[in-house]
Amino acid sequence: MYDVIVIGSGPGGYVAAIRCAQLGMKTALVEKYNTLGGTCLNVGCIPSKALLDSSEHYHNAQHSFDKHGIDLKDLKVNLDQMMKRKNEVISQTCDGVKFLMDKNKIDVLHGLGSFVDKNTIKVTSSDDKTTEHKGKNFIIATGSKPNFFPGMEPDKKRIITSTEALNLKEIPKKMIVIGGGVIGLELGSVYKRLGSQIEVVEFAKRILPTMDETIGKEFTKILKKEGFKFHLEHRVKEVKSNGKNISLKALNKKGEEVEMQADYCLVAVGRKPYTEGLNLNKAGIKVNEKGQIEINNHMQTNTAHIFAIGDVVKGAMLAHKAEEEGVYVAEFIAGQKPHINHNLIPGVVYTWPEVAAVGKTEQELKESNMEYKSGVFPIRALGRARASMDISGMIKILADKTTDEILGVHMIAPRAADLIMEAVTAMEYRASAEDLARICHPHPTYTEAIKEAALAATENRPLHI
Ligand code: FAD
Ligand code: NAD
Repeated sequence: MYDVIVIGSGPGGYVAAIRCAQLGMKTALVEKYNTLGGTCLNVGCIPSKALLDSSEHYHNAQHSFDKHGIDLKDLKVNLDQMMKRKNEVISQTCDGVKFLMDKNKIDVLHGLGSFVDKNTIKVTSSDDKTTEHKGKNFIIATGSKPNFFPGMEPDKKRIITSTEALNLKEIPKKMIVIGGGVIGLELGSVYKRLGSQIEVVEFAKRILPTMDETIGKEFTKILKKEGFKFHLEHRVKEVKSNGKNISLKALNKKGEEVEMQADYCLVAVGRKPYTEGLNLNKAGIKVNEKGQIEINNHMQTNTAHIFAIGDVVKGAMLAHKAEEEGVYVAEFIAGQKPHINHNLIPGVVYTWPEVAAVGKTEQELKESNMEYKSGVFPIRALGRARASMDISGMIKILADKTTDEILGVHMIAPRAADLIMEAVTAMEYRASAEDLARICHPHPTYTEAIKEAALAATENRPLHI
């Protein structure tokens, strides 16, 4: 009898298991694949960032080293080596999770987990052997899989998902990306930098449609300069492959049919919760119309001792959100009163410049009739940006018109992925724009743009513009 059985070893599941073990609970972790770490470590965050970093080095060597006074000859990409390094990063990181399971004395059970009843799980290994285990509590952290719509079914060779795009054996001559969201822009950037032509077909009016409107517009300009081509407000009808090339038909906003050809098509139109094989009905667990497991504010399903976290439930499909939920549930089971702020989960797009945001967008504030102030500061006005030649981007701070409390921070900036944490910390403590503006920021750094945007938001008095 385990105190807790966690199903799924992604960032939600393995972090939940560690916290349960730290709190003295006898814990098991069930994972159907041979390696631990889930989507994030195997086919998501980690490999995509490894390829983004490698391709960025190549791009800089090709486009900006000469201006820095560094001459290179015979520069070329060795894709095999790039993929090999990426695979090494994956295996080191997955081994790290295995080490953490051993260190915390967590039993790892490899195989597909399915409920037999509310207190029992069957684990079926790849050689079809089954074992049964009983638990006082369960945490479902089975994550998500790539989504697609009729007419764009991936064949995983030429019409691919992010999983195949992280493992290509050749650099596409031309790649059509369906979906101008996070995956489309990150993996599109990888292959753009390596020499592919990239065309993005996006259903919405702008790329990154769930982020602040200014971000989508500004970022489109930046990516166009990099050579991206965008087909906005295009609805994809069908994609076909002849084994070497693909052809795609879409309807533009006037309803006219547009046809495009390429050698690869990346389908990146979101992800769907993954519950196949879990036998949720045997435990009496409900899913909603989106396929997400239904939970209350404590991440409890309608069967009180069974919890669900991460991509398989509502909310942002992000590794750090899954991790926080894992910690929350472990502490809740242990009888503590944990805290999680779902309104302050930062989002990052790891392109260059990076895009990052936290809190409300301007559209959301308008829709809720909130009175707000806005302060914007361009990255190009920073001395640090001129020194590094990274001058694209801006930081926008939205604050309550009366109280000056920061409500949202949106940025396109070098190292925005790290910069955003200043905003998250400030907002967690409900700081005002003036609080940020009066904090001494080191010079020369990109963080000065946060101070300046805060000065612009609080009294419209930025210093350096
Ligand atoms: P997952 O990581 O999906 O893990 C679920 C695990 O459960 C899997 O290992 C699966 O095999 C296992 N499983 C499923 N069913 C069963 C079963 N019945 N029995 C046993 N095991 C089972 N997020 C970020 O925050 N930052 C990023 O930079 C980022 N980049 C990404 C890049 C890409 C290309 C992709 C695809 C995603 C990216 N994400 C990123 C999203 C992130 O990967 C997910 O939000 C995160 O992995 C969700 O964690 P999870 O624990 O809920 O599920
Ligand atoms: P996404 O939701 O970010 O973007 C999907 C895009 O596809 C949207 O812009 C949407 O308007 C568009 N779209 C939907 N249907 C379409 C259609 N029929 N034709 C054309 N466009 C269409 O999803 P994603 O990029 O696939 O990523 C999936 C999840 O993985 C996201 O929730 C994201 O949070 C997570 N992820 C995060 C990171 C990160 O944190 N850096 C990186 C990669 C993935």
